[in-house]
Amino acid sequence: MKNEHPLVVVCATITEMHAQIAQARSTGKSVGCVPTMGYLHEGHASLIRVAAQNHPFVVVSIFVNPTQFGPSEDFERYPRDLERDMQIASEAGATHVFLPSVQEMYPDEVRSTIHIDGITDVLEGASRPTHFDGVATVVARLFQAMLPDEAYFGQKDLQQTLVIRKLVATSTDDAVRSTKVTVLPTVREEDGLAKSSRNVYLNDVDRRDATAIYDALCSARDQIVAGCSSRATIELLMKVMLQRVDRLEIDYAVAVEAESLRLDSDTLPAHVALCIAARLGGTRLIDNMLVERPTT
Ligand code: AMP
Repeated sequence: MKNEHPLVVVCATITEMHAQIAQARSTGKSVGCVPTMGYLHEGHASLIRVAAQNHPFVVVSIFVNPTQFGPSEDFERYPRDLERDMQIASEAGATHVFLPSVQEMYPDEVRSTIHIDGITDVLEGASRPTHFDGVATVVARLFQAMLPDEAYFGQKDLQQTLVIRKLVATSTDDAVRSTKVTVLPTVREEDGLAKSSRNVYLNDVDRRDATAIYDALCSARDQIVAGCSSRATIELLMKVMLQRVDRLEIDYAVAVEAESLRLDSDTLPAHVALCIAARLGGTRLIDNMLVERPTT
């Protein structure tokens, strides 16, 4: 491919990527990476910027990973705009973009899948049963390709960050287990909607109504900070706020323990994750907020 952004080196193969990294390492450079599915926005740019503050070599991968989409999901129509992505990555400080083909990431002879237990059967995993196998498998392969010292992820995908931390902690592969995982805050639109590549699917009415998700999270957070300790009360509050939008279908709206993403009792734990997934006009949106329960 012709590279229109001379400051950014484009690598399409793992071999090229390894050659670039070997050269960087020979001059003492550390490597930061930001795995993405492209159609970059300010959320991705915030990760790239922090990576560029900490590492002289920053590689952004752009790969719409087919194995993390279910059969009825939006793999085919997932938004793509490579030219714009290159611009955003370059302006945010990326030195390299890794743009592998599906064949490069999943050569015919490779059929192995990584399954992370425990954390993957709730929330997103319950709604999208094969999703996290696809995520864990592709992230391991991306780490093997980009050999990063540090990889950056967004809290927007909270459950994904926990799966990746567990992947790194349990991996026997050097490239995977030596990667430091850094999670950065969710970047939002002015009205609170979490930035997402999928927001492009929202029409004007959907876009207006989508703020109900952030509003529900904020109200629940405020109640917890004010002293509410009942899970049932907090979940009811979020559901009532979401149900104000007739067209919004709730997938889940829960208050759970922030590490396990589970909760068996009605009493909220010290570290709470408020997690919502909802459909609006055919688009599935997810968001979350971490809240510390007051101790007194
Ligand atoms: P994606 O391209 O959607 O797979 O996202 C790539 C990375 O960007 C993931 O680590 C996401 O969590 C992160 N990300 C996506 N949206 C946001 C956001 N609004 N704020 C911060 N990080 C984000």
